[in-house]
Amino acid sequence: MKRNFLRAAVLLIAAALLFTACGQAPATAPEEGTPAPSGPEPETEGSGSGEETEEAKPDVLPQAGLNEALTRDGTPHKYFTMSFDDGLVEDKRIIEILDKYDAHCCTFFINTGLAGLMDGERLGIPGLVSQRLTQEELESGVYDGYDVEVHTLHHTVMTGIQDDPEAIRSEVGGDADNIAALTGFRPVGMAWPGGSYDQTTARRVMANTEIGFARTVGNSLAFGLPTSFMKWEPTCWIGDGDVIRLAEEFRKAECTEDMLFYVWGHGYEVEGYDLWHTLDTLVRMMSRSDDIICLSNAEFYQLFRDEIPGWTNVRK
Ligand SMILES: [Zn+2]
Repeated sequence: MKRNFLRAAVLLIAAALLFTACGQAPATAPEEGTPAPSGPEPETEGSGSGEETEEAKPDVLPQAGLNEALTRDGTPHKYFTMSFDDGLVEDKRIIEILDKYDAHCCTFFINTGLAGLMDGERLGIPGLVSQRLTQEELESGVYDGYDVEVHTLHHTVMTGIQDDPEAIRSEVGGDADNIAALTGFRPVGMAWPGGSYDQTTARRVMANTEIGFARTVGNSLAFGLPTSFMKWEPTCWIGDGDVIRLAEEFRKAECTEDMLFYVWGHGYEVEGYDLWHTLDTLVRMMSRSDDIICLSNAEFYQLFRDEIPGWTNVRK
């Protein structure tokens, strides 16, 4: 009940802020060819008239990833993080593994406008589908204690709406508002749906939302830090056959400068390729290595946001 109330207040105030900032009502969903949303609707008429109370102040909700226990101490460190996309039912089993090792080193990028949706067959494996968590499951706290970030309301390819600021605010900001209502933290990052981005899109997302980092679907196969937070390329995909070898290499590496090992994927890939043991091994290895700092994407971002730009064309 309290969660629903808080969520309603978040949306109301977000709508009021948008109205004030932009001089116009929040965008209506502009999506082309996307399934009808079964999740919450962020759009409200922007009256903003005094429904909020002293209890709910969602506009001052803390940003995700702020953690006083994590600080820079001037010496280089090894960092490990992961992420899984789309808000799928397998995320619950992924969280069981993370919980087993008390390893909160994972971020979940979800589409709150597609809750409960079942996409078609995946990976060419009969019976393997992409099933998203329902609104009820999301509200039941499945992600409690974990970093949840934006993947847009409807998994919208962002380069396709780069010229439409209202659509950017709706797809990215709307998803962020819903996530803030679910988690109590304001998202600071996203994963590019379909991995599609370019400089113009990245700059407009930064200009129109609170997003400060965006993960790509590339695989660097390296342990360097991102050169730009809005094109944050992971080290490897969970289905990469070398993931455990890379983990071993990372664990043994001499740390003379800050290093990052970043693994990404989808829950249906873990299920479809039977990577549960691999995932368990990976999390165990990383969480039990004393010199490896396990953290969420947002925690890493907050730790390095003053040093790594949102966008630069300088290549490493
Ligand atoms: Zn996705």
